[in-house]
Amino acid sequence: MSDLDHLRQSRHELLDGFDAQGVDAVRAAHVLIIGAGGLGCPAATYLVAAGIGHLTWVDGDTVDATNLARQVLFGPNDIGQKKVIAGRNALQRLHPTAAITALTEAADESLLQQLVPQSSIVLDCTDQWVTRQMINRVCVAHKVPLVTAAAIEWSGQLMTVDPRRSDQACYACVFDPSHAPEEHACGAYGVLSAMVGAMGCLQAAEALKQIIALKQANAPQLLSLFDARAGQWQQLRLSRNPDCPVCRASARS
Ligand SMILES: [Zn+2]
Repeated sequence: MSDLDHLRQSRHELLDGFDAQGVDAVRAAHVLIIGAGGLGCPAATYLVAAGIGHLTWVDGDTVDATNLARQVLFGPNDIGQKKVIAGRNALQRLHPTAAITALTEAADESLLQQLVPQSSIVLDCTDQWVTRQMINRVCVAHKVPLVTAAAIEWSGQLMTVDPRRSDQACYACVFDPSHAPEEHACGAYGVLSAMVGAMGCLQAAEALKQIIALKQANAPQLLSLFDARAGQWQQLRLSRNPDCPVCRASARS
């Protein structure tokens, strides 16, 4: 490790529960982030700045002017560029030797089947119900941890799924895949930029905790809901749905 890399991670090394082993685990981690929007930009920023070993970043979209308030890796000169290319360029200014693979295509099932098994952890930073369910399904099938978040208008939500644990709910246990919400184009809603950024940062924090296998005695699995207008958090304790169409089969294997 270079002196710069060592100093980069020195404040993590001082953290109780993180220690030198955690720093090594972060350096060895391969993180897959799906989505380079309002969640993906802050999540990728904090993980790359923290010194994760490898980031694979998937998004087929291009930057437009309506993104700039919350997708803070992009500036006016990036408009029209692929988000993951502009994002990689910005992150390499923060961490010039970071290993970042930018894939300029939408995540489909075959791409996820290829990428998820190679990953230490997956961050779902997308905004589509169908894609969220697909990411959860592939993560459960390959037993790869998943941190999923969403943000719209004044509200955000956050949930971590560890399919390696038999007691954990998956995304489909909580959000039934057969009951898709009515979806409108993402651009039809307003969204509070700083609230989306906060949710993306929390995804990075959850990912780091998973990567270092932070021990939290009897910590329940939670769905965290944030109402930015009221300044209130609500946390719902989760339990596995024994009839879940996604993780029921894998629980038996
Ligand atoms: Zn499930």
